[in-house]
Amino acid sequence: MIKAVFPGSFDPIHNGHIDIANRASKIVDELIVAVYDKPLKNFLFSPEERIDMAKMVFAANPKITVTGYSGITVNYCREIGAQLMIRGLRVFSDFEYEFRMALANHRLQPDIEVMALITSEEHTFLSSSTVREIASLGGDVTTMVPPQIKAALEAKYRSIENAGISATSKATRD
Ligand code: ADP
Repeated sequence: MIKAVFPGSFDPIHNGHIDIANRASKIVDELIVAVYDKPLKNFLFSPEERIDMAKMVFAANPKITVTGYSGITVNYCREIGAQLMIRGLRVFSDFEYEFRMALANHRLQPDIEVMALITSEEHTFLSSSTVREIASLGGDVTTMVPPQIKAALEAKYRSIENAGISATSKATRD
């Protein structure tokens, strides 16, 4: 029985991630989409929001479960008895990063293997930051994320905008 972890920030999850997870789930017995929840970087969505969005997306795939985790990814894999870590590779520049991470992870936990799947052609350019940037400027992300994620992005940017407006009017009042 092969249990694998597909870790990432998923801020937000997009069609490139979804493609990798669904393809990986055909190879393994169980795939855990693991959402990193103690970030060093600033995220647009909270860990709970990122987990909920991924849960919605994979609800129909019985081989995939979604969970949050923190700390070192390979240690998490070991804790839950996963032997394999899945990563996605887009352009050549991903390779250098993934190569270094795989070697570092192997040093930490030699029993956990890393398997990288090559992105599908239509998702080569897709990244969460591209999706965020387009959505933040009111651009159309229909071909990049499922409808629920598009709606979540719109709601998030609306709430940020409203918070900005009320902060500005509060500052004007004060
Ligand atoms: P991280 O912060 O770990 O890079 P991401 O959410 O950005 O988290 O990405 C998670 C994984 O998905 C990484 O292995 C990344 O290379 C892969 N990935 C991201 N975008 C794509 C894409 N368009 N096609 C295939 N894999 C992708």
